[in-house]
Amino acid sequence: MPAPPTSSVVGLVCPACGVGYRESATNPRCRCGSLLDLEVPPPSLTGAELRSRFEARLTGRDIADVSGVWRYRELVVPQIPDSPISYPEGNTPLIASDAIARWTGTDRLALKHEGQNPTGSFKDRGMTVGMTQAVRLGARGVTCASTGNTAASLAAYAAHAGLPALVLVPAGRVTPEKLAQSAAYGAQTVALRGDFDRCLELVEQAADRFGLYLLNSVNPYRIAGQQTIIFELLHQRRWDPPDWIVFPAGNLGNTTAFGRALVASHRAGLISRIPRLAAVQAEGAAPFAHSYAAGFTPLEPVVADTVASAIRIGNPASFDRAVRAIRATNGLVTTVTDREILEAKAVVDRAGVGCEAASAAAVAGVRRLRRESVIGDGDSVVAVLTGHLLKEPLAAATARDSRAVEIDGRLDEIEAILDR
Ligand SMILES: *Cc1c(COP(=O)(O)O)cnc(C)c1O
Ligand SMILES: [Zn+2]
Repeated sequence: MPAPPTSSVVGLVCPACGVGYRESATNPRCRCGSLLDLEVPPPSLTGAELRSRFEARLTGRDIADVSGVWRYRELVVPQIPDSPISYPEGNTPLIASDAIARWTGTDRLALKHEGQNPTGSFKDRGMTVGMTQAVRLGARGVTCASTGNTAASLAAYAAHAGLPALVLVPAGRVTPEKLAQSAAYGAQTVALRGDFDRCLELVEQAADRFGLYLLNSVNPYRIAGQQTIIFELLHQRRWDPPDWIVFPAGNLGNTTAFGRALVASHRAGLISRIPRLAAVQAEGAAPFAHSYAAGFTPLEPVVADTVASAIRIGNPASFDRAVRAIRATNGLVTTVTDREILEAKAVVDRAGVGCEAASAAAVAGVRRLRRESVIGDGDSVVAVLTGHLLKEPLAAATARDSRAVEIDGRLDEIEAILDR
């Protein structure tokens, strides 16, 4: 059995029983069953020194400076790799859209568009760190269960690293666009007759049995990388934290990562106060919201049902650590209906920003919280758009308008269309 780490040995630590494991451990779980956290030593620099170091890297040319993940490396991993598996990723914009702000009833809203990552979702931020670790460990292959975006990201990063990849998806539940990405990047795709939750259970067993490195967000290195959504958005705001950070929540990896990142930013002296997290679930896939509403009762898994396939998850793996994240940030968990999600998606798309349905849950959540006066008049809000419009271009909200008008090629036909 691995010995607990001494204070000088930094690695993976069980938040439930305090047992430590070497950072090279491949099992994401403690022997007690809890998911392990990656401990990063507090940086030896002051907040001001860290801020100027990060700022200087904006004009750097090394991939580790150019990447919006590795730029913040002192806060991400305990051992900084020489050559990360990176495209680079991150560097996603904070978009201000009057039309979207107006719809939500807030006037200080910015959208952190994570759909602008290399494979079209925030999953790339965790994947660059997880895949770099897979290579360090000499993994013979990598694997994940996925509602589509993790598979697309894993497939790309595995190809970039030269590792074989196996992905498990719920049969008939993943958009063709996401499946096409995995296939094109050369991952072996397996469609399981069952839901995402069953895929994750099976893949954890398969990883263990067949010696594949597991890269779902149960992996602590994935969570470590996803923290950089927060570091980067704080940096973009010149370390002036917003009042709220609102985002869709499914398997609760981001909830966990965001809580850790905010606490770490505060502890490192990068920010002087901690924004409140608002995790938004689809009403038909809301076990976290149900638990929150009852004062954080133990998780009761549900059979998930929502149009937002990326958050169609009934038994979230990171439940315990997400509870800690919401508590540490004085945060909250809310729900929105599929109807609200599709309405929000139409608004985001029409504003020229565009996102996938799950991402629109964040925007619908902002509107709901503003209507309930939970988000106050004048509060500043960042909503995280987790995935790109092209991930599901034929989603119900847009299908109606996606038919082009066919013409023979005469100007009067165009004139007739303009006159409408
Ligand atoms: C993975 C994903 C989510 C859910 O994130 P969790 O960390 O599982 O809560 C939300 N939106 C999109 C687009 C995703 O790909
Ligand atoms: Zn434990």
